[in-house]
Amino acid sequence: MSTEPTPTPPTADQVRRAPKVLLHDHLDGGVRPQTVAELAHEIGHELPVDDDSHLGQWFVEAADSGSLVRYLETFDHTVAVMQTGASLERIARECVEDLAADGVVHAEIRYAPEQHLEGGLTLDEVVAAVHDGFAAGMEQAGGRIVVRQLLTAMRHQARSREIAELAVDWRDRGVAGFDIAGAEDGFPPTRHLDAFEYLQRENAHFTIHAGEAFGLPSIWQAIQWCGADRLGHGVRLIDDITVHDDGTVELGRLAAYVRDMRIPLEMCPWSNIQTGAAASIEEHPIGLLTKLRFRVTVNTDNRLMSGTSMTREMHSLVEAFGYDLRDLQWFTINAMKSAFLPFDERLAIIDDVIKPGYAALVAESESGSTTNQG
Ligand SMILES: [Zn+2]
Repeated sequence: MSTEPTPTPPTADQVRRAPKVLLHDHLDGGVRPQTVAELAHEIGHELPVDDDSHLGQWFVEAADSGSLVRYLETFDHTVAVMQTGASLERIARECVEDLAADGVVHAEIRYAPEQHLEGGLTLDEVVAAVHDGFAAGMEQAGGRIVVRQLLTAMRHQARSREIAELAVDWRDRGVAGFDIAGAEDGFPPTRHLDAFEYLQRENAHFTIHAGEAFGLPSIWQAIQWCGADRLGHGVRLIDDITVHDDGTVELGRLAAYVRDMRIPLEMCPWSNIQTGAAASIEEHPIGLLTKLRFRVTVNTDNRLMSGTSMTREMHSLVEAFGYDLRDLQWFTINAMKSAFLPFDERLAIIDDVIKPGYAALVAESESGSTTNQG
């Protein structure tokens, strides 16, 4: 019998149990609704709904409303309750617990330290609190998950060099890289060249949010001017790809470069639907980019605002595109190859965790289908 994964569509439960790797997830976009409520009551922060049990739904609906103002308002409520060392540590620990329960085996979680200083913490204290929370969560999970921090600078602010230095200071203590985030339009990544050049001189890793709302120029700058190792989203690469009536596909120079150089795309399907970057999962560019063998990875972006998880993202793709376990393993190995961990650690997770995990699920599917036939 073949040891290759079979083309049986995996169930949601199998997707949950499959090893998954998450490269693009915001700490302030993944807080548990109950935790937001408890911390808000503690500090007297006013929430938009009276009944705490409706808070999770409020976040999804507000993020879904198509209004950028309401979308951004949702982050005001999470960031407001993340201004002390204790709250940051708790939220970081719960993040690891939730990801481990969802079958994630490696995650790189990003947030902007500069947004957590209102309670008097220093940048260093913010990173230390998140570090302690992640360490506690990993210990609780008994080695089933590895979690690292990515430090984000806000693209409309002017602290990117300082945050880049913070990331380098912490690189041997759980910080794997750097990112810039925030509104793309009007804030091109080249505004932060100083930070990116510094990181390159320091042999440090970074990703850039690019090609989400704003198009090809943003992707081109992120790669060719700033030297990004990975692209946050990159969905607008589709603008540089032409599918002709006879089915042949033509790649523009930029799309070809991204594919040739195996530049990882941190794709976040449900988030893109909420912000209007894609109309539906079925129409999401991830289908074509996967078919063309770009280095596609699957991510959650903001689990609270999108009401999502790695299992939901991947199972939605299974339903929309008919992906099987072999495809999910491909996304997962793509992500692990693209992680900002040292090469030997990436390889160990691929060989010792991901491949055996998928092999077990395939064996289970095969024995299940044999039983059905018998
Ligand atoms: Zn993002």
